[in-house]
Amino acid sequence: MLNKKSITDIDVAGKKVLVRCDFNVPVKDGVITDDNRIVGALPTIRYLVDHNARVILCSHLGRPKGTFNLKYTLAPVAEKLGEYLGKKVELASDVIGEDAHAKAASLKDGDVMLLENVRFHAEEEANDPEFSKALASLAEIYVNDAFGTAHRAHASTAGVADYLPAVCGFLIQKEIDVMGKALDDPDRPFVAILGGAKVADKLSVIENLLSKVDILIIGGGMAYTFLAAQGKKTGTSLLDESKIEYCADMLKKAEEKGVKLLLPVDTVVSPVFPEPIDGPVEVETVCSCCIPDDKMGLDIGEKTRELFANAVKGAKTVVWNGPMGVFENPTLAKGTIAVAQALADSDAVTIVGGGDSAAAVQQLGFASKITHISTGGGASLEFLEGKQLPGITCLNDK
Ligand code: ADP
Ligand code: MG
Repeated sequence: MLNKKSITDIDVAGKKVLVRCDFNVPVKDGVITDDNRIVGALPTIRYLVDHNARVILCSHLGRPKGTFNLKYTLAPVAEKLGEYLGKKVELASDVIGEDAHAKAASLKDGDVMLLENVRFHAEEEANDPEFSKALASLAEIYVNDAFGTAHRAHASTAGVADYLPAVCGFLIQKEIDVMGKALDDPDRPFVAILGGAKVADKLSVIENLLSKVDILIIGGGMAYTFLAAQGKKTGTSLLDESKIEYCADMLKKAEEKGVKLLLPVDTVVSPVFPEPIDGPVEVETVCSCCIPDDKMGLDIGEKTRELFANAVKGAKTVVWNGPMGVFENPTLAKGTIAVAQALADSDAVTIVGGGDSAAAVQQLGFASKITHISTGGGASLEFLEGKQLPGITCLNDK
């Protein structure tokens, strides 16, 4: 069980605290189009301000590829933060340079500043020790609150912890508490639901989950490789032929372990993938045992929606990663809505991970009824795979 120190376990008053946040927000013409990640970071920042820390925030934004490119400046983030916090957030014009040091040195208790985009330095993603040391020299304490990059060993997400006391902020703390508990010591029955399009990426999650869950539900684009492994016809549906054998293996493993593995029993099909994705689409529902040769499965059918929702009903812990269909299209969103609704109606601990699943739950208006929506797509996937995340491993134990 992960037992990492958080900001509430240490004394931050009067100390310079370097906080790695995830401010990788979409920016168009200098305007932030979705500030969810900034809002998500506020509890940790406010706690530090209220406890008289001298707060030095840092983050990456976009892919500047190791050069100073003001197209990727964090200036809009500094301004937005200032609005939310009701106080000026100074933006350093560099990351580890003179301006960063000067501004850090002049911080007073409760002040907040932001370093420029850490990925202006190639040393960031290379996890260069000298760069980590330089970052660390700005502060006395390191806080990681960027779960979205916790699966990466970069200087600001992991390397810097070699040189400073290192603890987590509230976002990572919640990931550890809720996801960590679900994977280590879940209330049962424990149901996992996997879907989405990244078939090969997620197949490796299945192996880990099979040794933990009571019921494993597979829908979305992942399902067809499993259906193929059962010898069923999948038409032109998304299929990873190189993984058919693996899926057959997993079906066998599930049986050996007594895990109930649920696959779609009916499928919403169309002759073509909708173009544009939310454009009109001609659909019919067929049995999942024999999808016609010239049709592709794009959502789970009505019987499957009921089957999956019923499985969720009895659960005490539910983890969901990946939409059940092409939810971007209203005609093909029914499966995803049904599963989101089932989680919302459930008294279980419900956890949603994955960029698109999290977006779906938010867009569909179910977010407030979910116990925890993970803030990192790739990171939550690696967490589910049972991998060690460098951005968490590097933190001090309690
Ligand atoms: P997440 O980001 O939640 O981890 P993925 O990125 O793996 O999920 O997959 C999300 C995408 O999967 C969505 O864009 C959705 O349209 C697509 N998808 C879901 N079901 C299907 C399907 N049957 N065929 C093709 N694409 C699908
Ligand atoms: Mg995705």
